[in-house]
Amino acid sequence: MIEYDEFGPEKIFEVYNPKVGMRGFLVIDNIALGPGKGGVRMTPSVDKEEVFRLARTMTWKNAMAELPFGGAKGGIIADPKTFDLKRKKLIVEAYAKALKVVCPSMYVSAPDMNTGEKEMEWFAKANGSMKSCTGKPKKLGGIPHELGSTGFGVYHSALVAIEHMGWKPGEITFAVEGFGNVGSFVAKFLTEKGAKLVATSDSKGVIYSKEGLDFKKLSKIKEETGAVTNYPGSIKSSCESILDVEADVLVTAAIPDLVTFANVNRVRVKLVVEGSNIAMTPEIEKVLHDKGILVVPDFVANAGGVISSYVEYIHGTPEKMFRLVEQKVRKNTDLVLKTAKKDAVLPRDAAMKIAQERVRKKMK
Ligand code: NAD
Repeated sequence: MIEYDEFGPEKIFEVYNPKVGMRGFLVIDNIALGPGKGGVRMTPSVDKEEVFRLARTMTWKNAMAELPFGGAKGGIIADPKTFDLKRKKLIVEAYAKALKVVCPSMYVSAPDMNTGEKEMEWFAKANGSMKSCTGKPKKLGGIPHELGSTGFGVYHSALVAIEHMGWKPGEITFAVEGFGNVGSFVAKFLTEKGAKLVATSDSKGVIYSKEGLDFKKLSKIKEETGAVTNYPGSIKSSCESILDVEADVLVTAAIPDLVTFANVNRVRVKLVVEGSNIAMTPEIEKVLHDKGILVVPDFVANAGGVISSYVEYIHGTPEKMFRLVEQKVRKNTDLVLKTAKKDAVLPRDAAMKIAQERVRKKMK
């Protein structure tokens, strides 16, 4: 059930095109700060409640990043594994056309599960406006995912948190869960700053080396063999054992619910920076907080992706994207951590309050 509150959701659309078999939703949660921004996912199980929860998260993420965007999210009920690209194109086009009444005036789309650059090209062309979505191919003004905007932001968030702990980047050890798009960029930038990467993981397992892993060697091995576990001379173990790693910092960058009530006591680091979405529930963050472990929440640390979308939206360059990600993520991580300390609350609670106040101010 969708629970309505003072923030929204403001509008919920159900769209249907029997000719191509397209059925989907759009939830525009709150547009006080600007058009609702959020990706569109294509899965067989997507429903209104799921889309609403994701739209609400976007409201806070965009407000936290101080972007002129509200929160929204789209969903198309379909299993892309069951049909070819031609059919997928027809479905995406039908969805984009059906939403023309509100897109791009009140909604700006983006990639999400099972949608990427290609789908955004179809979406923009069918909608008729290049402002209708971000995440488009470079030839249409897109800023490539491969530039690593989210990882770059998570790195800056980690740097601010490291300073906040009274540490120096050149003196710390860290572990990265998930050596993918986000995790590999965080590992690259933090090692370049002198921090020692002692462990990382991917879907094949964890590798650990007390002496530190060489980033260049590691990234070559991952590229050539597809698995970090082929790194020679390191200790290998199962995915979850990333939690047992003794280090100063853990950057999460893979699965949801990495930390649960069942394994929270295994966490050995003093600082967790959430690069991944919902690495743990707020209740688990509280358990860590009570143990004196600082957690930088996902929607503060991983806002680099949506900031990059904003730069694409205003036709900015990759240089502008890097400048803005650094500036915004640093400023807001600092604000959240200082407020949390001053008010003696969890960083997530401090961040939610800041984001809500920003939205409320514009709703008056
Ligand atoms: P990705 O697919 O590029 O990388 C994910 C990595 O995690 C892969 O290397 C994969 O092998 C690994 N992995 C999978 N299961 C694992 C497990 N059980 N243990 C350890 N590693 C595992 O994805 P990404 O774009 O880097 O996204 C990572 C996380 O960051 C996701 O939670 C995503 O929602 C979040 N995020 C990404 C962006 C972005 O712009 N890419 C933005 C915001 C949030």
